[in-house]
Amino acid sequence: MSTATFEFQVEARQLLQLMIHSVYSDKDVFLRELVSNASDALDKLRLEKLRDDALDADVSDLHIEIDVDKEARTLTVRDNGIGMSYDEVGQLIGTIANSGTAKFLQELQEAKDAAGAEGLIGQFGVGFYAGFMVADEVTLVTRRAGESQGTRWTSRGEGTYTLETADGAPQGTSVTLHLKPADPENQLHDYSSEWKIREIVKRYSDFITWPIRMVPESSAEGSAEPETLNSTKALWARPRNEVSDDEYHELYKHIGHDWREPLETIRLQAEGTFEYQALLFLPAHAPHDLFTRDSKRGVQLYVKRVFIMDDCEALLPPYLRFVKGVVDAADLSLNVSREILQQDRHIEMMRRRLTKKVLSTLKDMMAKDQDRYATFWREFGAVLKEGLVTDAENRDALLTVASFASTHHDTEPTTLKQYVERMRDGQEDIYYLSGESRQGIENSPHMEAFRDRGIEVLLLTDAVDEVWADAVGEYEGKKLRSIAKGHIDLDAKDEETSDGEREKQTEEYAGLLGWMKEQLDEDIKDVRLSSRLTASPACIVSDAHDLTPALENMYRAMGQ
Ligand code: ADP
Ligand code: MG
Repeated sequence: MSTATFEFQVEARQLLQLMIHSVYSDKDVFLRELVSNASDALDKLRLEKLRDDALDADVSDLHIEIDVDKEARTLTVRDNGIGMSYDEVGQLIGTIANSGTAKFLQELQEAKDAAGAEGLIGQFGVGFYAGFMVADEVTLVTRRAGESQGTRWTSRGEGTYTLETADGAPQGTSVTLHLKPADPENQLHDYSSEWKIREIVKRYSDFITWPIRMVPESSAEGSAEPETLNSTKALWARPRNEVSDDEYHELYKHIGHDWREPLETIRLQAEGTFEYQALLFLPAHAPHDLFTRDSKRGVQLYVKRVFIMDDCEALLPPYLRFVKGVVDAADLSLNVSREILQQDRHIEMMRRRLTKKVLSTLKDMMAKDQDRYATFWREFGAVLKEGLVTDAENRDALLTVASFASTHHDTEPTTLKQYVERMRDGQEDIYYLSGESRQGIENSPHMEAFRDRGIEVLLLTDAVDEVWADAVGEYEGKKLRSIAKGHIDLDAKDEETSDGEREKQTEEYAGLLGWMKEQLDEDIKDVRLSSRLTASPACIVSDAHDLTPALENMYRAMGQ
């Protein structure tokens, strides 16, 4: 079959340009990306073979191999995993499907200057294309397991790539980089050096559970055995004191498709009748698709070191969907399906335990490292609050780690505990007002009386806020009350005469109130004198049990 030339999709072209001209200092990571893809491909093949025994694929010696040819200045990363069909190569390598990358490009355009762009590379995994940071030409040869025809993909990264069929291609994928000329000034970055490759693999890919092999150069005559460069032990199965934080972080980057460090690493070992090991990570940044329906959950399920599935939603509740990591269970069937997991009693217990562990980690973080907690809450607070509605069992734990903007301080949020400690004598309720922005809320006429009397009000701006405040109802015996709802008599406590006085005033103004009520009859239920206002002449309040406009919209959107 002849060679066909294709153009890269626009986004892919932009990304490639960036890679080719990159002065990003940490180019070593290109190898991590290629090894990470090879490892995924091996996981996928083992799984597919497990599901379909008839699949015509060799799974006897699954591994990754790295070859360096100093003379030809090439570096090849080869795996005997799942491979790709002709069509898949075009789809997966010629376009950018990864939504994180699309987001990356968008931010890139906003960054404009080169320095900003370089900074961004460090924050997003750019995957396969990272090879173009160090190579002026990349060739990929692949054959999908079970298929007979192979495919060759080649590109110099400049707008086009070619595809052709390749006869005799082995099962799996090999990616060959034709390395750019070595920088004579900087021998440390010579990727045709065996030593360099060894060092990068050890640093970035040691945790990969598949063997990563390299044939030492002295064996060009064919004498030496390939050497395994990584330790191949699953990180989560190794004792804590034998694993460095960096090693944990590299695992996070691999499974989280994130180039940044995680905020927190959480380990859990459960022994007894249902054994499992968990290694969970809290990312430092929320993904952009956190609130879209198809947002993925990042916990992988393994059974006795065998990868079973990505995004295993049965392992954590939806409000912890941002947590990444690995759970390795000893006593599950390798054929376990998502449906079975949803009903499994042991998985249910595991989910409860993992949930509690994440929440207790947050509590510790809050006590020991305020800054880190603040980062966490800024990124994920809005998601966690969904748990206040859906997870009654952990409601108290969630209320403990939740914090809210408040009139007490312009920028620093408060916990409910702190709010209660500051409550004034005679104040019985916790007051809040929700709205779209802090500024909008602060300018609301509802705030006037509270501001004048120095009563603290929580300022809630997340969509979920009204729902949880209603669902939770109270904290430590103090009612959560929206100051936009019902009748709030702020003076009742400090002015004995207030009731009598109010009645007198109501009589006095009866004519006016009656007339207003008549005029506005279609739109309102009642007109009352109020102690809420000091500057504005009037404000609209809902009944204590009415839905607020924002809530009405939300329920309508949910089809209720
Ligand atoms: P990501 O790994 O985040 O999906 P990449 O750019 O690294 O993004 O890879 C894009 C896709 O190309 C992968 O999702 C995978 O489907 C395919 N791919 C890349 N390398 C390999 C490989 N060695 N074997 C099989 N498929 C691969
Ligand atoms: Mg990848």
